[in-house]
Amino acid sequence: MTTTLTQEEKSSMTLKLKDKIALVTGGTRGIGKAIAELYAQEGAQVIITGRAASNETASEINSTLAPETGKVHYKSCEMGDRAAIDALVSSILTEFGRIDVLVNNAGITNDQLFIRMKDEDWTNVMNVNLNALFYLTQPVVKAMSKQKGGAIINMSSVVGLHGNPAQVNYATTKAGILGFSKSIAKEYGRRGIRVNVIAPGFIQTEMTDKLPEEIQNKYKENIPLGDFGSAKDVADAALFLAASSNYITGQVIQVDGGLFM
Ligand code: NAD
Repeated sequence: MTTTLTQEEKSSMTLKLKDKIALVTGGTRGIGKAIAELYAQEGAQVIITGRAASNETASEINSTLAPETGKVHYKSCEMGDRAAIDALVSSILTEFGRIDVLVNNAGITNDQLFIRMKDEDWTNVMNVNLNALFYLTQPVVKAMSKQKGGAIINMSSVVGLHGNPAQVNYATTKAGILGFSKSIAKEYGRRGIRVNVIAPGFIQTEMTDKLPEEIQNKYKENIPLGDFGSAKDVADAALFLAASSNYITGQVIQVDGGLFM
């Protein structure tokens, strides 16, 4: 007997993250938004977070998705707040039952020359970029251990590998993410949890839009591929690490147009 599948059934069979539950922090704009959109297009239920009580990004993305794909859901969560993060993870586990993919994407800069850097410039960046990583990854790893599997993708930066003037605070957090990720990859590999890092170079988002144009042009001169990357370029790497890389863990993928090789 032959069964004829509808076009919708055929395309849903090829979705790379069909019915997976993915949490993307800071998914309201920029790189996180592009990851959320791509994951939902590939069939995942994606929870994005931001600081505001409500946000339009989820409904904006959902309005563009085909019926057989996944959906994006918004939850408010201040990333520096351990109690808020615990509540976020509990609410996702109650509502969706599991977390298959975690993308620790939320991050901030607070640039200042080192000798002028104030304590709060340092502490704020540590809190969002590094403390939140610890607060959130811990309960998620607990859940993934019970599930016997999961993929974690942590957003570093080429600055964490190579340093950058006026970004001692930011570069320190982005370097810290490497040691954090490799240690968890070693500790939880046997539970089926893979942990990898993406280190973007210059990506066109509101974060890099803050740079003066002449500085942007100067950076572009040193990029072999000749331009800043797009958020979608980073999302493509995040999809690969979530869905098509079963034997890859503890690695750092640079998405930087060849800036550092
Ligand atoms: P962005 O500033 O456009 O977006 C950051 C996201 O994080 C937003 O959704 C914001 O709401 C969220 N966020 C920030 N502080 C938060 C807080 N306290 N609580 C909750 N959410 C908070 O940034 P982007 O350019 O999309 O960068 C995303 C990640 O990629 C960051 O970790 C960044 O360091 C990294 N990165 C970006 C570039 C680049 O060129 N854009 C390069 C290297 C690394």
